[in-house]
Amino acid sequence: MTQTALNKSLAGKTALVTGSTSGIGLAIATSLAHAGANLVLNGFGDIDGALKQIEATGVKAAHHPADMTKPEEIEAMISFANDTFGAVDILVNNAGIQHVATIDEFPVDRWDAIIAINLSSAFHTMRVALPQMRGRNWGRVINIASVHGLVGSAGKSAYVAAKHGILGLTKVAALENARTGVTINAICPGFVLTPLVQKQIEDLAARDSLSPDAARAKLLGDKQPSAQFVTAQQIGDMAVFLCSDAASEMRGSALQIDGGWSAQ
Ligand code: NAD
Repeated sequence: MTQTALNKSLAGKTALVTGSTSGIGLAIATSLAHAGANLVLNGFGDIDGALKQIEATGVKAAHHPADMTKPEEIEAMISFANDTFGAVDILVNNAGIQHVATIDEFPVDRWDAIIAINLSSAFHTMRVALPQMRGRNWGRVINIASVHGLVGSAGKSAYVAAKHGILGLTKVAALENARTGVTINAICPGFVLTPLVQKQIEDLAARDSLSPDAARAKLLGDKQPSAQFVTAQQIGDMAVFLCSDAASEMRGSALQIDGGWSAQ
């Protein structure tokens, strides 16, 4: 845990992290909780386990089940956060899904779902939350993009389009709020070993008749020069940094944490 997180620098703040029942979102929520922020969690799956993990840090936590494909449910989630904790000071747009297929074979419903969850949901959370943050003249929005916001990979058309899109959205939101205490930035991770990537490893193992270890090594070796996964906690610590005063003049940045992937 970073020194910033241990200082409880975010005590009294409320953070809402979309897609925080698993993977990177849960790690970010946990880092923000260690730094003292109360948490509104969102997402499906093991909700009780996620709530327990956050509450173990000593902060308050609640869950809202909004589906990120549904704008009216997203609005209800922000209202729930306001009613429960009084504000959304920190918004992390993290919910995301993946589907791998070439463009000509890409299922239309998967394209629509990826654009809705990985891109449009951030527009819907921000359009409701930003005016409230400006009203308090303090706010932090962190959009979890990807190295795929900066470079492409065959088979990932919808994901790459959504992640390039969210970097554009981040820049515009940062410019629209540049003279306020509200900052909007993006984090661009390389491969992190979460359920989203585990599925890609299993698909690769099946396709190329590889052992799980060999498939993991191939996935990393093809793209990530360090040959190591980025850890979800490293991304959580970066999110805590973006909430600190040290980051108050970072506006519209895209921060790579990708083992060298985008340096190639
Ligand atoms: P994950 O599958 O572990 O978690 C995804 C989360 O989103 C879960 O909590 C899930 O319940 C939630 N979710 C899915 N659909 C939802 C919906 N319709 N409404 C609300 N919540 C929904 O995935 P992850 O790897 O932790 O990915 C999190 C984010 O990080 C995504 O935006 C992903 O694109 C990004 N990312 C991941 C990696 C990686 O290597 N894992 C790399 C770069 C960026």
